[in-house]
Amino acid sequence: MNSSYFKTFITIIILFLLSACVTNIAGRKQIMLVSESNAIESSKQAYINTLEPFKKKGQLDSNPKMVQRVNSITAKLIKQAKLKRPETKNWQWSIKVIDDPKTVNAWCMAGGKMAIYTGLINQLKATDDEIAQVMGHEISHALANHTAERMSVAMASDLAVNLYKTTIGDSSGTTSLATAAAQVALKLPNSRTSESEADKIGIELAAKAGFNPNAAVTLWQKMSKVGGGNSLEFLSTHPSPANREKALKKMIPKMMPFYQSAK
Ligand SMILES: [Zn+2]
Repeated sequence: MNSSYFKTFITIIILFLLSACVTNIAGRKQIMLVSESNAIESSKQAYINTLEPFKKKGQLDSNPKMVQRVNSITAKLIKQAKLKRPETKNWQWSIKVIDDPKTVNAWCMAGGKMAIYTGLINQLKATDDEIAQVMGHEISHALANHTAERMSVAMASDLAVNLYKTTIGDSSGTTSLATAAAQVALKLPNSRTSESEADKIGIELAAKAGFNPNAAVTLWQKMSKVGGGNSLEFLSTHPSPANREKALKKMIPKMMPFYQSAK
């Protein structure tokens, strides 16, 4: 065993000893190296760091009409998220529209820090119902504590360590390994189990917020059509669980009453 392998081995052992087992809202036991409160705290700075380059180039919330549209959709979803997990009332929820027509992506960090790229809205010609499905799915990743799970993976990866090392000298002095991990986590794929959980919780949040559950199916159909050949950031971080479309279609009849009473 050479020294770098040995170091990795020791790091993994230490992380394992520090880890804890928790149960998320989907009832699944998760082994965590990072607590949810730690993930929320680190995500605050990771959010600022991730948005900073777009802000500098004037690509943040630059289209007031689009911002208003996205805000009104996410406000309804946030209301439902708070009902689903009451402690999220204390989260500092935030949504930003990133003006980047080439990127098909959206995400929600721990603690409700969200973004959606104009590329997703425009390239998919997404309806309000479909935007609600995307953001409902993203919010569900945060509700089910998937960010901390991905951060745990990121912590053990060289990517986070390298990002931390390159930013450690920056004058802001706010970058920690956990912040770096929260940034790197955005680029890591969710597990297919996490995807199924987010699909299930997301379609329900959206239906209760008054958005058509059928849009969950059309969203993923559009996504794979636009995706074919192109590399979509969204599809690389949200791998398709087995029978995603079929599973979502099966959920629709159960969701219709929520949707109809919300309308
Ligand atoms: Zn996902």
